[in-house]
Amino acid sequence: MAKDGSRVGPVVLLGPPGAGKGTQAKRIAARYGIPQVSTGDLLRENVRHGTPLGVKAKDVMARGELVSDQLVCDMLKERLRQPDCRRGCVLDGFPRTAAQARWLDIYLDHEFFEKTGCARQRVIVVRLIVDYNQLLLRLTGRRACPACGRIYNVHLQPPRTNALCDDDGSQLIIRNDDREEVIQERLAAYERQTQPVATYYQRKGRLADVNGDLPVDEVTKVMFWEIDRRSSEAERRSPEPVGGD
Ligand code: AMP
Repeated sequence: MAKDGSRVGPVVLLGPPGAGKGTQAKRIAARYGIPQVSTGDLLRENVRHGTPLGVKAKDVMARGELVSDQLVCDMLKERLRQPDCRRGCVLDGFPRTAAQARWLDIYLDHEFFEKTGCARQRVIVVRLIVDYNQLLLRLTGRRACPACGRIYNVHLQPPRTNALCDDDGSQLIIRNDDREEVIQERLAAYERQTQPVATYYQRKGRLADVNGDLPVDEVTKVMFWEIDRRSSEAERRSPEPVGGD
C-alpha cells in the first residue's frame, strides 16, 4: 500500500550508472513508504564486512564487471524475506541481466506472494534515459563521504569546502568503481547486459521511459506520475503469466 492507501507493488529502476537511480529510489521509497533495496549497496556492505559473498564479489566489482546472477539473486532473496519488504520495495541496480529479470518474476510469483500472503502485483519498471556525455560528467565527478554516505559531484554539486563532507567534515573519497578506467567498462557492461532487461519488460508492456536529463525534481514528478498510473492500471488487470521470454 502506498501512504495514500493505494497499492504500488515492487518498483524496478533501470538506467546506466550515474543516471540518478539512487536519488530517485530514495524519493520513491519515501513517497510510497517502502524500502529502497540497492544490490550495489548490499554487495559493498558484504565486501566491507568480509563475508564469503563479499570476498567472491570484491575483485569482480573492482573490475567494473557484473557479479554472477546466482550470487546476486541469492543475496536479494535474503533481503526480500525481511518483513519491511512485504508491502513492496524499490529495486535499485537490479535486475541487470535478462536472467535476473526472469528470476524476479518467477520468485515473486512462486515464492514471495505465496509465502507472505501479499496481494499479487506486477513489477513496475521505470527506465531513466540520460545523455552519454552527461553520464561521464556525473560519474567522473562523483565523491562519497565514507562516514555518512552522502554523495557529491565536484562538477555538479560540489561540497562547500574542497573535498570535505558538508555534514561531518570527513575527507571525501572516490569509490573504487567510480575510477575512470572502471567507468568505461561499467557503461559498456550496462549496454551489453542490461539492454535485454529493458527488452524483456518492454515486450510485457511494463517499461516506462523517463527523461533523466531533466532537472532532478522534474524527473521525480514524471516518475511518480508513471508509477501511480501503472499501479492503478495493474489493479484493474489480472496477473500475467511469467517466464517465456
Ligand atoms: P551499483 O552501485 O549499482 O553501480 O553497483 C556497483 C557494482 O556492484 C556493479 O558495478 C557490479 O559489479 C555490482 N552489482 C550491483 N548490482 C548488481 C546486479 N544486479 N548484478 C550483478 N552485479 C551487480
